[in-house]
Amino acid sequence: MPIRVLSSQLAARIAAGEVVERPASVVKELVENSLDAGATAVSVEIRGGGLELIRVVDNGSGIPTGEAELAFHRFATSKLPLDGNLDSITTLGFRGEALPSIASVSNVLLVTRPADQPGGVVVEVAVGDLIRTAPHGSPPGTSIAVRDLFQNVPARLKFLRSPPAEATRVQTVLHQFALAFPGVRFHLDVDGRASFTSSGNGDLRDACSAVYGTKTAKALLEVISESDGINLIGVHGLIGPPDVSRASRSYINLLVNRRWIQSRALTYALEEAYQGFLMEHRHPLAVINITVQPSEVDVNVHPAKLEVRFLHERDVFATLQRAVRGALVALAPVPNVRSNFASSRPSSTTTARPLEGHQSQQALSLFAPVEGTDTTYTPRGIVPSLRVLGQVQSLYIVAEGPEGMYLVDQHAAHERVLYEKVRREISDRAPQSQGLLESVVVELPAILEESLEAHRDEWTMYGFDLDTFGPHSYLLRALPASLKDADPEEAFRSILEEVGRGESKIDWEEKMVCSIACHSAVRAGKTLSREEMESLLLQLEASDQPNTCPHGRPTMVHLSAAHLQREFGRR
Ligand code: ADP
Ligand code: MG
Repeated sequence: MPIRVLSSQLAARIAAGEVVERPASVVKELVENSLDAGATAVSVEIRGGGLELIRVVDNGSGIPTGEAELAFHRFATSKLPLDGNLDSITTLGFRGEALPSIASVSNVLLVTRPADQPGGVVVEVAVGDLIRTAPHGSPPGTSIAVRDLFQNVPARLKFLRSPPAEATRVQTVLHQFALAFPGVRFHLDVDGRASFTSSGNGDLRDACSAVYGTKTAKALLEVISESDGINLIGVHGLIGPPDVSRASRSYINLLVNRRWIQSRALTYALEEAYQGFLMEHRHPLAVINITVQPSEVDVNVHPAKLEVRFLHERDVFATLQRAVRGALVALAPVPNVRSNFASSRPSSTTTARPLEGHQSQQALSLFAPVEGTDTTYTPRGIVPSLRVLGQVQSLYIVAEGPEGMYLVDQHAAHERVLYEKVRREISDRAPQSQGLLESVVVELPAILEESLEAHRDEWTMYGFDLDTFGPHSYLLRALPASLKDADPEEAFRSILEEVGRGESKIDWEEKMVCSIACHSAVRAGKTLSREEMESLLLQLEASDQPNTCPHGRPTMVHLSAAHLQREFGRR
């Protein structure tokens, strides 16, 4: 085939591949346009997960009648100065690609009117072809309806998830905007039902409350670092205190000049600031806006504008970390006062002694210096009858057996016992459930709601009794009996976060059982009575796989008689 220049229509459709990945990306682009137009209220409506209809209505500046058609031309933008200086971009958009891209893969109806114009205009475009431009009555502002998205791109349709799942993504986008622009009122309707509203009163905490619930929002800590004459980087936001942690990173919202971005490096910097405050595998909740001079940040890294590059990256990270650390330390001057299993495990950065297996640092330090590899695990499946001697660090049960001394990790051991118990109950279809004296209302963010709904019936099989209570809230009436000592809401939420949607049914079940066992098991740091310790060891002895916890970590460490003798120079 000879070389040809692509028609602008075809070029737009190809560009659409990058800009318009799914309904949520259309919503993102349209809402960005509304915000760039100075809107203070943006209302979004979707039907059929956004594939049937996406409508975005704003009260922004509107488009002058004579320019409305031009907005659909590729690389047509009102946001760049004539000299094309990309260094001073203060708007969310600037590439002039969104409208033509969207219009190339859907039917678009635009109605717009600037406040100082008596009438508005309607522009209709069907899969890239201009159908009509005509005068049209309209309130000031802009309304864009996108219908039958991807009708001409069947390949793209195949990659989309179910309409409810796509709707959830749209909701997440609206959440991000509400957190980034607390001064703008956002509203989302899904299939005719109100699904999200933010107040737009300018208060970030209120925006957090709309997205994450009142209780969580109240607990958040303020983070402020004003830019001064020397450091021109500002950091403002709200972050979770150590006891408001989450099992995934999807509660970390990083904004750069109010643009929601994805950045591994910044996420890492944030999490590092939390070092010592959070347990292993827990992540903070945060909404942080970083302000930098527009010339110090490159927003033109990717068509979807989700990534940025900083000119002075180290300064940005340092400022972020200092601000976050400052807020945390002010709250809790002694990090990690609560001793718990996860945080007392050696961190990955600790250089461990080259021993066989991976014995816990704590257990070893009691007997340091230890050279050689005498400290071994009891062979799988053989648990000798053990006599309890006592407890160390409210964490390990010290016991004597025929072959010397044993240290049993109380949390890991109990986890193993409960894991097998829950598994048995499920295979017998007889989950032990414990009703709550008072039912608890739990508000869930969209992402957790989706995970829950994906396995709604199975939750009952595990002993949870749940009812839909209202938009995004559930009434929790009962929990698996083994969770009787846990805080019901906290346990339910953590389990839901840890289990997620699961990669498969088997994966989901395994995570569920592990998670119930973990949250039911006796915590490290709890002082146990002799009877409790004896009972735990008896149950452990009766387990199918007594030597490891469900995650594969050891439940006990054996110090053989020979080893002790050598340590004391008796051999
Ligand atoms: P960009 O946002 O990169 O400029 P778009 O294709 O998204 O490119 O939009 C093209 C132009 O259409 C914008 O530059 C703007 O002038 C105009 N426009 C689009 N949406 C709106 C809106 N909601 N309100 C006012 N003007 C709009
Ligand atoms: Mg745009």
